[in-house]
Amino acid sequence: MKRKNIVWNLTRLCPFRCTFCCVSATYVYGFQQIYPIDDSTPVIEGELSFNQQVEVLAGLDPSGFRIDFSGGDVLINPRNIDLILIASDKFGAENIGLSIPGTFTTPQTLEIIQLYRGRLMAFCSLLAIFH
Ligand code: SF4
Repeated sequence: MKRKNIVWNLTRLCPFRCTFCCVSATYVYGFQQIYPIDDSTPVIEGELSFNQQVEVLAGLDPSGFRIDFSGGDVLINPRNIDLILIASDKFGAENIGLSIPGTFTTPQTLEIIQLYRGRLMAFCSLLAIFH
């Protein structure tokens, strides 16, 4: 069975304000990461909490989908890394993609991501510098 592609924008929060942004990102000043206060509370009203995100993953057939996680900046909320790893374990690393501006990639996050995932694709980072 051919897998269906899902592009899942985990958050609209982003440290950039690109004029060409196609997701109406919500600007966060100062290149700071935002941690949710707990797993039941979203980082910003209107988005899913970690527990709700896990629930969404649990409802998807592991052989039916490939997921590209995007934003906003996915790594602005460090808890999203845990969600990506859960997804990678369930769907297989080759079926998980990640599109990020790259702002919050550290050697540690890259190591974790490389360990579990098939590919890493950074998008719009260079363009963001100029906008
Ligand atoms: S980096 Fe990407 S998500 Fe953020 S404002 Fe720019 S285009 Fe939008």
